[in-house]
Amino acid sequence: MIQTVRGVHDILPDAIPLWQFLEARALAIFGQYGFEEIRTPLFEKTELFARAVGATTDIVEKEMYTFSDRGGDSLSLRPEGTASVVRAFVQQSMHRQLPWKVWYRGPMFRYERPQKGRQRQFHQIGCELFGPEDPLADAELLAMVMRYLTDIGLQTSLVLEINSLGCPDCRPPYRDLLIAFLRQTASHLCDDCQNRMERNPLRVLDCKQERCRAAIATAPVMIDHLCPGCTHHFSRLKGHLEDLERPFRINPHMVRGLDYYNRTAFEVTSVGLGAQNAVAAGGRYDGLVAQMGGTPTPAIGFAMGMERLALLLDQGKNRPAPPDVYLAPLGEQAEQAGLKLAETLRAQGLAVTLNLGGGSLKSQMKRAGRSQARFALMIGEAELEKNVVILKEMALGQQQEIRHSEVPGFLVNTCRTISVGDGHR
Ligand code: ATP
Ligand code: MG
Repeated sequence: MIQTVRGVHDILPDAIPLWQFLEARALAIFGQYGFEEIRTPLFEKTELFARAVGATTDIVEKEMYTFSDRGGDSLSLRPEGTASVVRAFVQQSMHRQLPWKVWYRGPMFRYERPQKGRQRQFHQIGCELFGPEDPLADAELLAMVMRYLTDIGLQTSLVLEINSLGCPDCRPPYRDLLIAFLRQTASHLCDDCQNRMERNPLRVLDCKQERCRAAIATAPVMIDHLCPGCTHHFSRLKGHLEDLERPFRINPHMVRGLDYYNRTAFEVTSVGLGAQNAVAAGGRYDGLVAQMGGTPTPAIGFAMGMERLALLLDQGKNRPAPPDVYLAPLGEQAEQAGLKLAETLRAQGLAVTLNLGGGSLKSQMKRAGRSQARFALMIGEAELEKNVVILKEMALGQQQEIRHSEVPGFLVNTCRTISVGDGHR
């Protein structure tokens, strides 16, 4: 038997209503803030991610699915969404229409060690906002993430953490300070951190290993070494969040795993998730557009892990919405008439399950019961001859004969229109 690749999962019909709900709320809420959806390709030139995400990041060094196509080009499945959106921004010269506000949804691919809440194909919903440099934009974006997460039902368990990662003026001198500190304490660091200490020293600050956490407890932190511009930006952001009464925590050790961030960085964690507790993460990337060859444009964005949201919200199985009608034909001629009648009813907006695979009346009615349909329609030879059907209202057990031609009108009036996509909640 061939099974899914390790770390890759089907999303089965049972879970789909929850996913549709999460996507529908994103569409509605991000729309309130003026964001439009964008759909970018699932694979890009490898160079895009190497340049945008950063050649020394874990993602690019060890997590990408990279392959060469038949023409010999090196391509990679996207490990995240921002690189592609920035590429699209530059490619379409969107700097002429600022601000540009877009959101995306879809699968991402990273070769990581699979565990609960961590997969090799996973899904993100994310937003990117191009144009404003002002912390007002940061505050509005953070308010939007929190509104979304609260709306879907997570309010109680969430913590918003923020930090500032400085800018090209203040980060390099701070980075030197940090490297000097790390050299002194190198023997206490894990192998990974000893390795990345010179190339990506900030990453050491959010290493999850106990020994590293102890070793860096007294390390210098970026927010103590911000330039005046970054200090002002960060304090205005904090002011706006206080104004909005959005609780937050400053985490000076939070750095993001992608190189492109500057100034505002943030993460939303949830207590319900164990080790993989980040549900959303993002930050400012004012230099990335220019770095990718575009007209310099500040930007900020975030991404949410959908599997983790689904884990938090999944309170048991979702039952599929039952059909309005279960159509039970007896015999070949009745099946033909049933197929046509089912189509007529669907054209009127009704949800109809046509019995497939024959069976006695008794077994068909059993299936009708299991489907939880409100009505069953039975057609046999005798009914065909008389041009009628037998209609049974399942909950009441009452049945009546009605004329074939009156079935659509009667059912439409009784059932009204079906509602799509409200299976959840
Ligand atoms: P983590 O620290 O959990 O590895 P990250 O910093 O790599 O997260 P980002 O690249 O910022 O995460 O992605 C944003 C969100 O996407 C994360 O907060 C998380 O919810 C989700 N996510 C990231 N990697 C995975 C994965 N392998 N499987 C499932 N969800 C993921
Ligand atoms: Mg990661």
